[in-house]
Amino acid sequence: MSAPQTPSVELKPTGQKMPLVGFGLWKVTKSECANTVYNAIKTGYRLFDGACDYGNEKEAGEGFHRAIKDGLVKREDLFITSKLWNTFHAKEHVAELARKQLADYGLEYFDLFLIHFPISLKYVDPATRYPPGWQYDGKEVIQTNVPHAETWAAMEKLVDEGLAKNIGISNFSGGLIIDLLRSARIRPAVLQVEHHPYLQQKELFKFAKLENIAVTAYSSFGPQSYIEIDFPGAKDAIPLFEHETVTKIAKTHKREPAQVLLRWATQRGVAVIPKSNNQKRLEQNLHCCDFDLTEEEMKSFDSLEQGMRMNNPGNYLDRPIYIFA
Ligand code: NAP
Repeated sequence: MSAPQTPSVELKPTGQKMPLVGFGLWKVTKSECANTVYNAIKTGYRLFDGACDYGNEKEAGEGFHRAIKDGLVKREDLFITSKLWNTFHAKEHVAELARKQLADYGLEYFDLFLIHFPISLKYVDPATRYPPGWQYDGKEVIQTNVPHAETWAAMEKLVDEGLAKNIGISNFSGGLIIDLLRSARIRPAVLQVEHHPYLQQKELFKFAKLENIAVTAYSSFGPQSYIEIDFPGAKDAIPLFEHETVTKIAKTHKREPAQVLLRWATQRGVAVIPKSNNQKRLEQNLHCCDFDLTEEEMKSFDSLEQGMRMNNPGNYLDRPIYIFA
């Protein structure tokens, strides 16, 4: 299969183009990550979505550098996203973490750097534990008193210093975005949130559009990604790959259900970053913009909305009371 021409979306603050289809790095195993990234580049992926929390940034970097060394791509052909973890929200830690992550990747800049969650947790020195995860001491989730405006101002400095070309946010609600915009000198280029037919986020996306913030969907296959980590409710839902609305459209277009789910999102102007540890599926996912769903097919997804949010820290953190440090 030859590499497809992937459409892109323009990021308003800089005019930079972001591919509408990229590759997600969460749960890409450390031992396979360098090879997976290399093969994904060879297959035609140009956008990679990483994070401190995924614990595989060094290995992903090895994949990038091997691909660059072998002449498959140049650095400027790649669009590399990473994220600020919750324990680094204080102004004195934002650049510290971004520089560490860049060093891990062996990169000079990120194309996009996102605040991973609007949640500020107590600092953990990378020398003590990295990535730090949610629990401060393996048990307690300890919040710290850092306002989002402070974190955002430190993110803006990353742009000033050339460490990130664009900055953005993830897992922010409309209200939190409005609050952030109040003091933003540089507006967020991208909002990355969970999005699939069971969680369509229509109002939030309408608001993002009004504010010229591009949207990236994560977990485009809904509960699928959460089965392997035993998330509550993931196994009980009808798998989207088996939902008759999806299988019927897949059959009509002679496509895989996964491709239909990705096309439903991209046809709404939403970027996608599917992850796969399997070369065949990874190829399928990239080839998701070379067919179109009809208006009627797009509309048929409306009835799948369930407000089903898998990645909701309020649900999966088992200690209900956060303690301010
Ligand atoms: P996803 O891409 O929706 O789904 C991944 C799951 O689907 C895996 O079980 C994968 O299995 C399977 N799969 C992939 N392609 C398939 C295909 N063509 N046919 C059948 N099964 C397929 O899940 P995700 O990892 O949750 O989300 C994607 C990316 O979004 C992440 O990697 C990460 O970069 C980002 N993300 C961000 C946040 C955030 O808080 N900002 C949260 C979650 C995810 P195989 O690997 O075996 O193919």
